[in-house]
Amino acid sequence: MSEENSVVSEGKVVVFHYTLTGDDGELIESSKDSGQPLPYLHGAGRIVPGLEEAMEGKSAGDSFDVEVAPAEGYGEKTGPGPQAVDRSEFPDDVELYEGMGFTAETGDGGHLPLWISSIEGDDVYVDQNHPLAGETLHFAVEVLDVRDATDEEIAHGHAHGVDGTHGH
Ligand code: ZN
Repeated sequence: MSEENSVVSEGKVVVFHYTLTGDDGELIESSKDSGQPLPYLHGAGRIVPGLEEAMEGKSAGDSFDVEVAPAEGYGEKTGPGPQAVDRSEFPDDVELYEGMGFTAETGDGGHLPLWISSIEGDDVYVDQNHPLAGETLHFAVEVLDVRDATDEEIAHGHAHGVDGTHGH
């Protein structure tokens, strides 16, 4: 593999480990918890914009820290805040939990992403903000591999696993 082939750019699949902490230094999540590094297709908007931008030009073996402002992460907090919805509005067979994301259909046929912010008895509080909206994100990143995406991955707009063989 030539040097330039291994640099993160559009159309590459990047395999990386990350640890994400919040502004208060609290651990939010780490790919090392599962031991499974995360593959993504660069340039496809599959990871938060600030992290994707920081990945540009990196190569396998690189480690770096990046601070991502809310606007380049999960967005600023917007809207009226959590709204109570009765439990009966959700399907009986779906287990609801705090932080769960889902899509609601709007009256005009659109789709609105929503998250459950809390559950109190039969009141399910839903919010249009991602749970990490408004947070400055601190990523510690370790790039493990940078490879060409397969034609199928490009067509689908996402990575098919670490080695590109987990198609569907
Ligand atoms: Zn696919």
